[in-house]
Amino acid sequence: SSGTIRVVSGSDVSASLFDRARAVSPGGVNSPVRAFKAVGGTPRFMSSASGSWLTDADGNRYVDLVASWGPMLLGHAHPEVVAAVQAAAARGTSFGTPSEPEVELAEEIVARTPVDLVRMVSSGTEATMSAIRLARGFTGRDVVVKFAGCYHGHVDSLLAEAGSGVVTFGLPGTPGVPDAFTAETLVLPYNDPAAVRAVFSEHGDRIACVITEAAAGNMGAVAPEPGFNAFLARTCREHGALFVSDEVMTGFRASRQGYWGIDGAVEGWAPDLMTFGKVMGGGFPAAAFGGREDVMRMLAPEGPVYQAGTLSGNPVATTAGLTTLRLATDEVYTHLDDLASTIQTMLRDALGAAGVPHVVQSAGTLFSPYLGRTEPVRDFSDAQDQDPAAYRAFFHAMLEHGVYLPPSSYEAWFVSDSLDDDALDQIEKALSAAAPAAAA
Ligand code: PLP
Repeated sequence: SSGTIRVVSGSDVSASLFDRARAVSPGGVNSPVRAFKAVGGTPRFMSSASGSWLTDADGNRYVDLVASWGPMLLGHAHPEVVAAVQAAAARGTSFGTPSEPEVELAEEIVARTPVDLVRMVSSGTEATMSAIRLARGFTGRDVVVKFAGCYHGHVDSLLAEAGSGVVTFGLPGTPGVPDAFTAETLVLPYNDPAAVRAVFSEHGDRIACVITEAAAGNMGAVAPEPGFNAFLARTCREHGALFVSDEVMTGFRASRQGYWGIDGAVEGWAPDLMTFGKVMGGGFPAAAFGGREDVMRMLAPEGPVYQAGTLSGNPVATTAGLTTLRLATDEVYTHLDDLASTIQTMLRDALGAAGVPHVVQSAGTLFSPYLGRTEPVRDFSDAQDQDPAAYRAFFHAMLEHGVYLPPSSYEAWFVSDSLDDDALDQIEKALSAAAPAAAA
């Protein structure tokens, strides 16, 4: 079918499912950005997916550039992952005891990253929440430093000036989080070493940890400036604080070793704690945090810092993640790099040809366009200076032409190894139709 552009025919079934969903769930969704509030229109209810294509309940097909917000590194329903999951499920879906797949997955993570020990959890939010608790328990200090525009899940103390859905909806934080919780969170501008130095000189002996996304991907894609993460690691060490690198989004995606593989491994430093999720669960709820042995041994049952989970290390989820990671070879990462740069070039060319002011930025294989500006985005205040109306028009034109983008201009785009020539062709044609819509 290459040569002809697929045009989406209708969304009646999605619309009626959305009506039913709204009657039984707030906003009709189980995670806010899915509701299309930032872009308007009817969210598409997907009924199946294969490789890089999604099929919605009306039978429309879309090239997927969201990849379930990161996990689907190899594409959807990869036959070997599906087979491994089916076999694992047939052996039993949860034992409430230790089992071999979680050990194998932990071994794979320890082999790929600088962490000595890992603890499995079920979501990225749990990973960052637990890492913060452990950092506080280990240091005996309370203050957490984070960066504006970095999202670390919906942890109470980390919702202060978070990116992602929190900013998509224009929320400064959220009701339901006591001021006392965020009072222990200091929020700094991203990529600003002077602000970090200032906060450490004033509060250094009260700071338990600095947490940062290894590369920011929740205010669009904003890479750390060269040496910024190394500087954070060094500054934390000088002050007896821990450096927590959140690789939930970048882990096992930016490279075999995550974003750390393209900065820390090269520059010769390591975080004290790291958090992982998304890719390591292969599309199932599996996440983890890990780090330095002396810190991790503070966790129960070895140490006093409590942390637990009924489904932690679930055998089906860890099998999906393990199978995904084993299939994610060096060739896969090279392909992902090539795909990310090919699509960015297409995007720049189409926006340029249509006369849309834009900057397209990347961080590892994550990338995103900022429409209506031409200066690079270094931090959250830059990211907020973009044209949401242009993105709305662009998003809907892409959707109409069979390409599923993140329904928010604060989210990065995700490639998968399954993007083939047919999918790239569809993206290129959709871009040539959608870029003029963004200019209008
Ligand atoms: N940390 C980062 C960097 C993320 O991007 C996300 C989710 O997008 C999280 C943490 C939270 O993960 P989860 O949605 O699995 O709770």
